[in-house]
Amino acid sequence: MKKHLLFLGPPGAGKGTQAALLSEATSYLHLSTGELLRKEIDLDTYLGKQVKDIMNKGELVSDELVLEIVKKILAKDNNGWILDGYPRNLSQVNSLNEVLRNINQPLEIVFYLDIPDEVLIKRLLMRGRKDDNEETIKTRLKIYKQTTEPLIEHYKNLSLLEYINADGDFKTISTDIKQKMA
Ligand code: AMP
Repeated sequence: MKKHLLFLGPPGAGKGTQAALLSEATSYLHLSTGELLRKEIDLDTYLGKQVKDIMNKGELVSDELVLEIVKKILAKDNNGWILDGYPRNLSQVNSLNEVLRNINQPLEIVFYLDIPDEVLIKRLLMRGRKDDNEETIKTRLKIYKQTTEPLIEHYKNLSLLEYINADGDFKTISTDIKQKMA
């Protein structure tokens, strides 16, 4: 069974939902950089104040900032982990590689949740998170296509990519993911 996983895909593809379900089933740590950042905003911490405006606009916060968060959590003794929302660009891929080399825990599988644009726009508008308005969704999708989408090819070349059709009900998708993990 693979223990070091990553979820890749556009905003609204269901990465958070699937990562949470898998975390429940396996007890692997679910590391969502977006969730952690939203918590900082809710608690109105120094970090939260720094990222609030950027996140509400749908832009990416700095690589250094997210790297600090990820590094701290992965350095702990985890029995498996599921990355969700990190890495989001090639520079983050390189930083993650270095972190994983240091802790001697290689990434074993990358699930790419594929879903048509029109489905995810509908889903995001229904979800109603603070950064889920039409303008911000446009920005997030544009950034995804420009900076995150190239990661698919990268992980495919490393033979780590598992394609998941994420246009369906969450239970079917979850079953598909578990089967591909074994
Ligand atoms: P998510 O919950 O993954 O959709 O992330 C929500 C927001 O958090 C994003 O739109 C970014 O502003 C920020 N964020 C989350 N993860 C990252 C990351 N790896 N790099 C930069 N910004 C991030």
